[in-house]
Amino acid sequence: MPPTTRATKFNAGQEIDAQCPKCELLLAHTVLAAVNGVPARIMCNTCKREGKWRASMSPGTKVAGAAPKRTTTDADGTVRVTSKRSPPEDPAVGWANQMRLAANTGRATKSYDMKGAFEIGEVIAHARFGDGVVRDAPAADRIVVVFKEGAKVLAHRRA
Ligand SMILES: [Zn+2]
Repeated sequence: MPPTTRATKFNAGQEIDAQCPKCELLLAHTVLAAVNGVPARIMCNTCKREGKWRASMSPGTKVAGAAPKRTTTDADGTVRVTSKRSPPEDPAVGWANQMRLAANTGRATKSYDMKGAFEIGEVIAHARFGDGVVRDAPAADRIVVVFKEGAKVLAHRRA
């Protein structure tokens, strides 16, 4: 990925470059959980170490949700904390693209079950999130699935 100066909002399933404390290198990590576009938990794609994300781990990445908070004081003395954020991107657009690509492979949609085994590129039907496309498999028992409402990390191959 080329370096970018644009601020990025992160969702679970996206990749972020971060300093891995175990590998001691700046490496690609998968975002496991994000809050308001800011990565909360990440996993090193190289050593699979999971941990909390801190802004200091990703010196080359501008995170949109991490914009500094500004405080304003109203005439009555009320202090309001505001943070400037770019409008949220619609995850449904990325989902529609993924669904279109997956449809071209002609593979049948599989029902999601954590005991099942799924591969990257497969379309799965989830009871709660609807249809989604498996985009990544960050661990042997974990898949990242892009749904209309955003990417989710799901378990699979659980006996
Ligand atoms: Zn690592």
